[in-house]
Amino acid sequence: MENCKKLAKQIRIDSIRMTNNGKSGHVGSMLSMADMIAVLYEKILNVDPKNPKMPDRDRFVLSKGHAGAAVYSALANKGFIPRDWLMTYYCDNGKLMGHISHKVPGVEFSTGSLGHGLPVAVGMAIAARYAKSDRRIICMSSDGDMNEGSTWEAIMFAAQEKLSNLTLVIDYNQVQALGHSEEVIDLRDLKAKLENFGWSACEIDGHNLDEIYASFSSLPHKEGKPTAIIAHTIKCKGIPALEDTVKSHYRFIPDEDIEQVIKKIEEEE
Ligand SMILES: [Mg+2]
Repeated sequence: MENCKKLAKQIRIDSIRMTNNGKSGHVGSMLSMADMIAVLYEKILNVDPKNPKMPDRDRFVLSKGHAGAAVYSALANKGFIPRDWLMTYYCDNGKLMGHISHKVPGVEFSTGSLGHGLPVAVGMAIAARYAKSDRRIICMSSDGDMNEGSTWEAIMFAAQEKLSNLTLVIDYNQVQALGHSEEVIDLRDLKAKLENFGWSACEIDGHNLDEIYASFSSLPHKEGKPTAIIAHTIKCKGIPALEDTVKSHYRFIPDEDIEQVIKKIEEEE
């Protein structure tokens, strides 16, 4: 798992530098999923930087498009895009848009407005079935995404269609744009809810690389059912002063703090 650890650290550092450079972005949302993005791109997704449109590649859809810088970092570190694009993130005429864009090689679908990723991922899963392809469709969503009606329509439909080639990963840090999730819309027992909607659901520690790998590498968890992985995470993981805070949602680290914050991440075991 050394490579995953290294990539997760790099994703955190890149996300912090990119959002600082662009003076905009959602650093808390990026750091929350950095470990999972690292495992996906290092060990799980069947994708090829030399052939990003390879027909039978796995499809990864980031529904929480506001956190796209973390995926851009992974794509740069895996060779899909040049590393020097990263410092154009959120800049005028830059190569990398503030919310994730399919104009960037390796990105499947543009998102930003919540509730769009999973419905599209369901369509991709049905298309894969028609094509008799073994490719897997993995969608990552957020607390805010799980408040959207379109997400729950897609959840019902995926169960109806028995889409075992579909996985929903929920970056369940329990913080969203305007508050802690229990104060905005409490998702309550999310695992039981998803199971009642016909999915196979499990809970993992979304910062434990071994646990992430064990869960992601054993898909689908049950034949004939879509899989939901509820990943318990910490918003802005890696910057203790901002962990689990609402203010870390839409934020960048200012110039005066950035070197100290990055030094701490670099030194972390
Ligand atoms: Mg959240």
